[in-house]
Amino acid sequence: MKRFVTAMVKHETNTFSPVPTPLTAFGRYGAQAGPAYGAAAIAAYRGTATAAGAFIDLAEEAGAAFAFPIAANATPGGCPEDSLIDHAAERILEEVNRGCDALFLDLHGGMATPGYDDPEGELLARIRKAAPGLPIAVAFDFHTNLSQRTIDNATVITAYRTYPHVDQYETGARAGRTLLRALAGEVEPKILWHSLPILSHLNCQTPSRQPMKDIMDRAIAAEADGTVLNASVLGCFPLADIPYVGMHGIVVVDARTDRGQGGRLLHDLMSMAWERRSDFVFHVEPVETSIAHARTLGDGPILLADHGDVAGSGGSTDVMAVLEECIRQGLDEMCVGPIWDPVAVDRMIAAGVGAPVDLEVGGRTDAPAIGHVGKPLRLSGTVRRITDGRFKVTGPMGTGTSQNLGRCAVLDTGWAEIVVCSERHEPFDTGCFTHAGIDPARKRYILIKSRQHFRAGFAPIIRHVVMVSGPGITTSDYSQYPWDRVRRPIYPLDPDTPSNLPPSF
Ligand SMILES: [Zn+2]
Repeated sequence: MKRFVTAMVKHETNTFSPVPTPLTAFGRYGAQAGPAYGAAAIAAYRGTATAAGAFIDLAEEAGAAFAFPIAANATPGGCPEDSLIDHAAERILEEVNRGCDALFLDLHGGMATPGYDDPEGELLARIRKAAPGLPIAVAFDFHTNLSQRTIDNATVITAYRTYPHVDQYETGARAGRTLLRALAGEVEPKILWHSLPILSHLNCQTPSRQPMKDIMDRAIAAEADGTVLNASVLGCFPLADIPYVGMHGIVVVDARTDRGQGGRLLHDLMSMAWERRSDFVFHVEPVETSIAHARTLGDGPILLADHGDVAGSGGSTDVMAVLEECIRQGLDEMCVGPIWDPVAVDRMIAAGVGAPVDLEVGGRTDAPAIGHVGKPLRLSGTVRRITDGRFKVTGPMGTGTSQNLGRCAVLDTGWAEIVVCSERHEPFDTGCFTHAGIDPARKRYILIKSRQHFRAGFAPIIRHVVMVSGPGITTSDYSQYPWDRVRRPIYPLDPDTPSNLPPSF
């Protein structure tokens, strides 16, 4: 009987973010603080639309025994500690050393720690050193930043090909099935990759629209028709001041049969991206212009996506500037949130449901990297509801996973119902409102802090989307970031960046 090991170590690190990411921040899908281990990890991810969920299913399908030594997943933020990698490597190797025929890793790929610009490469290198012949499949996020060391120490790599990430399960299954074919002696995987010097904007990356759509469609077709074993294009996570940012292509070929088609595909994918590089730049407009535009739109719901302060990219989600502008322009029939402010939550819980309150909300976090100073917003209203902040995702992204916003309180100002939470959360599923008794489909305006993931859960209920370039540590105005260690030249920071296209075969 074969024995497989599965593990999850995921963090998207915004190196500019002031939000700390201690080990206890990992494990947001579980009930406890910190990562989940063993049976608790299996219970948290079995049956979920995640790569780990796919790995569990593949092990069971193959009739293999399997272990899940660690599931660590934290909301994006500032750098985790180096010790996270020590801890994860120790747990994984403990199981690998008990006997392991194949390792299946659910990684984000966009992590950076003080000591490692490529913590995933460090983790893989340690595993490879301890178990040199071990076949390793890796499922990455679409927002991975890649190093040569990562490539050198994996057998198969796939990445999400959607954003919002609704193909997490499929990504795990793609990597896992190729590795199983390798175990059966059917194929001999070899990874080709390339990294373009493009710091693409998160708002312009999604494969569901151009400029990325044609490129990703090409990769999907080449994998589907068997030209290559796997093909992925990665948008990169740009808010990281490390040498490994850039748009990447990863093509896995069968070394026994590849006659250059993998290299040709990689060249074509990268050429398409390079030719379109100016379309990967998002142009910000003033907040007041975006809100004024929203007021001219017809029937609601009109979703206002404040993308300068997004938890899913490392934002504090307590910047109140966009809500302040909505008040100034007289918007009403709104639902808003979740705004991160555990202090305000405590105050509303102390006041109790039904109590009138007058309090400062948000603005508790400074972001020194961009000179942002937190500014709370004074609001008055009624405490409408108090919740434990827990719900299960029913939308298409991460379906079945448990979310935990910490204790929440709903402030009803008359013109808005505002969800205030104790744990940061990017709203990609309507559960963040509905669990608190708010139906966003019945509101005229939905103000949330998200740039793309909201489309997973909210698309079916909204009529219009207005992108709002609010201030914060996830701003799309790249001139605000103190770039220091990023590779140079890189487009668009250096408009005349020369291409580095891989050779055509
Ligand atoms: Zn991502």
